[in-house]
Amino acid sequence: MGALIEQLLEFIDRSPSPYHAVEAALARLGPSFSRLDERQAYALEPGGRYVVTRSGSSLVAVVLPQRLSAESRVLAIGAHTDSPTFRVKPQASYAKEGYLQFGVEVYGGPLFASWTDRDLGLAGRLWFRGDDPLAPESVLYHSRSPICRIPQLAIHLNREVNQKGLTLNAQTEMCPIWGIADDPGGEGALLEAICAETGRPQSDLLSFELVLCDTQPSARSGLSGEFLHAPRLDNLAMCFAALSALAASKASPTDLYLIALFDNEEVGSDSERGAGGNFLEVTVERLLHAGGLDLEGRHRIVRRSLFVSADMAHSVHPNFADKHEPRHMPVMNRGPVIKVNAQERYATTGFSAAVLRDLCRRAEIPHQWFVNRTDLGCGSTIGPMTAARMGIPTVDVGNAMLSMHSAREMAGAADVEYVDRLFAQLFSGQ
Ligand SMILES: [Zn+2]
Repeated sequence: MGALIEQLLEFIDRSPSPYHAVEAALARLGPSFSRLDERQAYALEPGGRYVVTRSGSSLVAVVLPQRLSAESRVLAIGAHTDSPTFRVKPQASYAKEGYLQFGVEVYGGPLFASWTDRDLGLAGRLWFRGDDPLAPESVLYHSRSPICRIPQLAIHLNREVNQKGLTLNAQTEMCPIWGIADDPGGEGALLEAICAETGRPQSDLLSFELVLCDTQPSARSGLSGEFLHAPRLDNLAMCFAALSALAASKASPTDLYLIALFDNEEVGSDSERGAGGNFLEVTVERLLHAGGLDLEGRHRIVRRSLFVSADMAHSVHPNFADKHEPRHMPVMNRGPVIKVNAQERYATTGFSAAVLRDLCRRAEIPHQWFVNRTDLGCGSTIGPMTAARMGIPTVDVGNAMLSMHSAREMAGAADVEYVDRLFAQLFSGQ
């Protein structure tokens, strides 16, 4: 179990942006998975292992059965590669009051206060001029060392902060400091320095997507190592579990095993690369078509399939227990959490919950239930939209965690193995 946890923490540290997460995912899958290109025809072998990426930040990987037919099933796990953070604006850098700063947009729903007073770096992708204007050359970038900080105001200048809470304006009070301004009207050379690290001149830079990332390595904690402290556990922990299970799976005689890792879940999923887009639908359609199935065969398969929407779940917070539904309070290290919501914010149905509970029983792991307090609004996942788009019975499940959407989150170490066993059970087809 120790080795699996070390691999998870390394995976998280290698994945400061969705682009890096997909690179780390390809490495986790290994060379037995052949790359497919959406722009090319798919030529598939029975029992083959394939992976296709979209925009470099979403990924679908499959292990095909020995014999695909209208009697086959798609057994699938979905998760998301993105996490709440702050994204650098296109014309970001400026001088203010003697300091160099840059402007950031909020990405998703981060806990603002958790991003203050941390050793922050930048990560993402840069696009440079190439031979073809429709195919600019792109380079991954990760600063690794700290290059900026969002300092809190000293308590002497904000005396009531502990009583009234830290409120921060996204436009004016979350701008990182990255240097000292020599020229009061200047903007510094942030992009020049970043381009220099990639070995390309700034004059070739066309655009970029860069996000703030914490540079502190992930860690195990607790006297017995029972906890994990890391950024982006939501939802890289579930991406990792899905990848590990698929990489370890063997081709089924009849079932197609699939994982789908999407970008843009934290901002609503409605994008070219998000779960609200057509990536999964088109990919499944093309895989089944290339496998020789006609339209009726493809629709028959979908209705006997299962999609596990894997996303981290809320553990009860002992300091704020009244925020939780009294008889549905998940605790870390007590197994995966099945999420239920009558307003369909989660896709779990009576049927899909029954399937998942029986998979837990067969995998010999515990499980828990989560229901939001009825008088509080509920979060959501890629589950409902995937269920609606694909017509596949879907269950929402994930490991319990605390500090969700903080720059540094917390989860349970034992749950890493429990969910690994659950997903291995799914990909055994039993
Ligand atoms: Zn999530």
